[in-house]
Amino acid sequence: MPELPEVEIVKRGLEPALLGKRIESAEVRRFDLRVPVPENLSSRAQGGRIQKIVRRGKYLLSFLGGDEVMVLHLGMSGRIHIYEPGDSMEIQKHDHIVLNMEGGARIVFNDPRRFGMLYLAPANDWQKQKPFSEMGPEPLGNEFHGPYLEKKLHRRKSNIKAALLDQKIVAGIGNIYACEALYQSRIDPQKLSGDIKGDEAEALVTSVKDVLQKAIVAGGSSLKDYRHTDGTLGYFQHGFSVYDREDKKCPGCDCKRGVQRIVQSGRSTFFCPAKQR
Ligand SMILES: [Zn+2]
Repeated sequence: MPELPEVEIVKRGLEPALLGKRIESAEVRRFDLRVPVPENLSSRAQGGRIQKIVRRGKYLLSFLGGDEVMVLHLGMSGRIHIYEPGDSMEIQKHDHIVLNMEGGARIVFNDPRRFGMLYLAPANDWQKQKPFSEMGPEPLGNEFHGPYLEKKLHRRKSNIKAALLDQKIVAGIGNIYACEALYQSRIDPQKLSGDIKGDEAEALVTSVKDVLQKAIVAGGSSLKDYRHTDGTLGYFQHGFSVYDREDKKCPGCDCKRGVQRIVQSGRSTFFCPAKQR
C-alpha cells in the first residue's frame, strides 16, 4: 500500500505531465471505487487547467483552476500510468479512469482492488472537509515535533504502532514506515503510547522523518527508470531493516532469533526484540 513517500513520488512524476495543462477529456470506465466516482466527473473535469498539485498525507490534490480540486487516493493497489504524447496505449484490465491532457499525454488510474478514490472537492475549503479536517500534521513539517507527539500520546492506551498509523495524530504513515521508524528509534511496537515521553518521543519523531526522507530520495532516484520502463509510478523496493524480513537478522544485529512478526490490529508488525524495548 502506498504511503507518504510513494505518493510524494507519484506527485513528482505527475507534475511535468500535468502542471499548466488542460484536461481535454476525462473517461471514467468504472465508477464503483471505494468512494463512488462522481457521475459527472467528466464534464466537471473537462477544460480544467491544472494549477498545482498538493500532497496531504496519502492524498494528492490537483487544483483545476476553477472552484474544484480533484482528490486522488491510491488505496491498496492503485497505480498511475503516464503515457507520453505519441506512446501507444492499450486499455489494461483495471484501468478505471483516463485523463486525456492537452498536448497528448494520458494519465491512467489503474486499481485492481478498487480501494482507491477519485472525487472532486471545493478548491477553497477542502481543508475543512473530512478527512483533511481531522488529519494530523505532515510528518516532514515543523508542526511534527517531540513535544507535539508526546502530548498526543499522553494517556493513550493503544500501542505505539497503532498510534503511528492513526492519521489524526500524524498524516501519511502506513504499516511499512511505522515498523521502520520504530526500529530505528529502538522502540518496542507493543509499548503503550502513553509511556512514550521526552527523549523517546523526540527520537521517534526524528526516525519518522528520517525513514520517510530516505524513501523519497530512493524513490526519486528510480523515478526516471520507472518512466522508462512502463510508466508506472509509486512502488519502490527500499532496503528495509525489519519490514517483511521475518527471521532474518536486522542490520548489524547479534540477536539469535532475528526479526519477529506479530499481528497488531489485524496487521503485521515486524521488529527486533533484541534492539527494540
Ligand atoms: Zn535484530
